[in-house]
Amino acid sequence: MPHCPIVKFFKLIKMSVLIFVDHTDEGHIKKASHEAISYGAKIAEQTGDVAEAVVLGKVNEDLAALGQHGAKKVHHVQHDNLNLFDSQVQSKLIAQVAEQTGAKIIVFSNNSSGKALAPRVAVRLKAGLVAGANSLPDTSNGFKIRKNVFSGKAFATVSINTDIKVISLNVNAFTITEGGGTAEVVPFNTTVDAPKLKVTGSTKTSGKVALTEADVVVSAGRGMKGPENWGMVEELADTLGAALACSRPVADAHWRPHNEHVGQTGIAIAPNLYIAIGISGAIQHLAGVNRSKHIVVINKDPEAPFFKAADYGIVGDAFEIVPKLTQAIKKMKGMP
Ligand SMILES: Cc1cc2nc3c(=O)[nH]c(=O)nc-3n(C[C@H](O)[C@H](O)[C@H](O)COP(=O)(O)OP(=O)(O)OC[C@H]3O[C@@H](n4cnc5c(N)ncnc54)[C@H](O)[C@@H]3O)c2cc1C
Repeated sequence: MPHCPIVKFFKLIKMSVLIFVDHTDEGHIKKASHEAISYGAKIAEQTGDVAEAVVLGKVNEDLAALGQHGAKKVHHVQHDNLNLFDSQVQSKLIAQVAEQTGAKIIVFSNNSSGKALAPRVAVRLKAGLVAGANSLPDTSNGFKIRKNVFSGKAFATVSINTDIKVISLNVNAFTITEGGGTAEVVPFNTTVDAPKLKVTGSTKTSGKVALTEADVVVSAGRGMKGPENWGMVEELADTLGAALACSRPVADAHWRPHNEHVGQTGIAIAPNLYIAIGISGAIQHLAGVNRSKHIVVINKDPEAPFFKAADYGIVGDAFEIVPKLTQAIKKMKGMP
């Protein structure tokens, strides 16, 4: 039926790639979401669809500026019930926005919010999910995406065969694109459930760079001998504007708080630069940091396994090297 009007009508409708935009409690859009929008926009370009974004709750940024990364429209749901992150409430809303906008691909960042939301949204939409994608889909024959498996030690190429597809993109796996236009911001009016969670107390760290968002991370391990020696690690981190991290035994021994523990059983990070001081590089540690773009290892043992994963290595005593490194960076930056 080459001239059937119904066929023509469907050809005119553009489906959307819907990107979930995550923000901090202070209403600042996370870098990971800028990556997710850029990625979603590229998929839309590939599939001939339109990239749209969904934002939940109060934001202190100009949402129209998300058009810079390729979003054409931003659906904004505002409600006091969204002041607290409840993945059940939020996933229901995202699924609702997806259904009403005819989204066929929904993109999340594979950060902590995305890990909680993407599977729930996939279940609601009866969609296939690829969690931890690190490439654009290959749409030449089906819909295939590459993702990390076995704690980043291998890749798998996964096919999604459902009509609706949910993808969570690994942090730092896609470069942020700029230069798009301005997005149209439209309020999305709906009822919002009250959160089922009740927060009985919270402590905020202030003035510190959040580990999962940090571009540079300075991390230290048992080679530092004890908590009293962390001053030099902190000074290096402050000089670089970096977040602090540590190996698990360091947190287990209460030398450092557990929210700094990175690795298989800790936080998984992917900064641009990861500096590991006095850390051996056990497989469980590497599992959480091996997606970092550049890894610098400082260790006195030339046989330390971490050197195999390092882009740059310094063999030597951290107690001599770290202060010298800090001084050199301060000099370079013209800092006192
Ligand atoms: C199920 C399971 C899950 C785990 N999950 C995690 C995890 O999530 N994260 C994690 O980190 N670990 C994890 N571990 C522990 C992991 O196996 C290692 O034991 C741990 O990472 C080692 O920590 P480390 O490198 O700080 O200490 P060590 O292995 O003791 O290494 C210290 C390093 O410091 C170097 N060093 C010593 N003195 C100096 C000096 N003066 N200057 C420079 N270098 C020096 C040494 O050469 C050595 O390489 C897990 C283990 C298991 C079994």
